[in-house]
Amino acid sequence: MSKKINLLNLNREGLCKLFLSIGEYSFRSNQLMSWIYQKDCLDFRKMTNFSSNLINKLEKISCIILPKLFRIFHSCDGTIKILIEVGYNQYIETVYIPYKNRTTLCLSSQIGCILDCKFCCTGKQPFVRNLFVFEIIGQILLVKKMINHLKLNNNKSITNIVFMGMGEPLLNFKNLVVSIKIILDKFGLGLSKRKVVISTSGIIPAIHELFKNIDVVLAISLHASSDVVRDSIMPINKRYKIKDLINTVAKYMVYSRANCGVISIEYIMIDGINDTKIDVFNLINLLKNIPSKINLIPLNNFSGLNYSCSNNKKIKYFFDILTQYGFIVTIRKSRGADIYASCGQLSGVFFK
Ligand code: SAH
Ligand code: SF4
Repeated sequence: MSKKINLLNLNREGLCKLFLSIGEYSFRSNQLMSWIYQKDCLDFRKMTNFSSNLINKLEKISCIILPKLFRIFHSCDGTIKILIEVGYNQYIETVYIPYKNRTTLCLSSQIGCILDCKFCCTGKQPFVRNLFVFEIIGQILLVKKMINHLKLNNNKSITNIVFMGMGEPLLNFKNLVVSIKIILDKFGLGLSKRKVVISTSGIIPAIHELFKNIDVVLAISLHASSDVVRDSIMPINKRYKIKDLINTVAKYMVYSRANCGVISIEYIMIDGINDTKIDVFNLINLLKNIPSKINLIPLNNFSGLNYSCSNNKKIKYFFDILTQYGFIVTIRKSRGADIYASCGQLSGVFFK
């Protein structure tokens, strides 16, 4: 294995330090980033504003290496699931979701997930490890290549990034922060902080740390409105209780501009578990003092799942009551279910 530094692991700060350490100006990091992230050029020798002396120095100590695109799966609705090899027998999944007016990329942050939510296929896989920055950022670069190659969606580039793939992003905090700095950097992918979403099951200490490091949209996977129900479907709730979670997020909102003062709440509708009248009124009570946008998510199926989705009548009932009480409510439209690319269906197992 190469001992050279993979430059995809470094954000601008890291690159500046590297250039200074080899006797070069720090502005070279801006140039390097725009080659990689804006001109899709990963070959030092094609970076025309670098002298051959600089290229030789870079080649001696560093490299630019992407993870390996292993296979792609096309859904009938235009969604594409990309299976990426990140080690021997280790795979992660990334989902490309084109809409009329935007293109969303759903990224993975870990191989597997340790948190074992009872409704999630990723949680059923063994946790292997955190992804490196080059593997997080590499998902975006591989998809950009794919868009150009397949001339997808009129070559429209990625407009939104959501960390809703495999893993709990806030448990890979350091690499998540560096990756997001690259995503937001004007010499990197240059996305607006309002277009980048971290979805989390609610790792309270990491939410406290988040605003000191970056500001992006935070979506909370709540899925229950009482500790009793949440304990039974999300073991993390035994450690971080609902009220503490909501209070922590309310604090994050004070500092965050990306969220525009509104918490995004994700609530999967699971038949007979969290979809009763008591559940919805507990939810109203819990969120009554916090401006919230509630996304109701019909439960997606996978083999081995012990729950079923609430029926349409129940989902509509939740929608109506929450709307009446003044919340902004949406019902998530599932994409890519025919290729197991929807929320909670990602496993990194490809023989399905
Ligand atoms: N670990 C993070 C992000 C990855 S999961 C989190 O839990 O938020 C992305 C989203 O998919 C989360 O809201 C998660 O709760 C949801 N999800 C998991 N399993 C699901 C399923 N079977 N059907 C619908 N959504 C699911
Ligand atoms: Fe992990 Fe999120 Fe799945 Fe829970 S829902 S097991 S936190 S990936």
